[in-house]
Amino acid sequence: MNLSWRQHGACRGIDPDIFYPVSDEEAEPAKAICATCPVREPCLEYALANRERDGVWGGATERERRRLIRQRRKSA
Ligand code: SF4
Repeated sequence: MNLSWRQHGACRGIDPDIFYPVSDEEAEPAKAICATCPVREPCLEYALANRERDGVWGGATERERRRLIRQRRKSA
């Protein structure tokens, strides 16, 4: 899989701990960074395709990604 989008991530150089919050409530700082990110879409798709379990990817927490996967299954 092409991972070149990663170089353009707004999270580059930022403390990765921010992206591994202990709860969805604490995910807000990470989500705020993702909201400004030019590669949010490929990042989220990557996480969904790879079943990334931990952390915030593409502006979505683990729980939000699970919901997205369920929604897509339903509409597929
Ligand atoms: S969407 Fe968020 S986690 Fe993904 S590359 Fe951008 S800033 Fe990083």
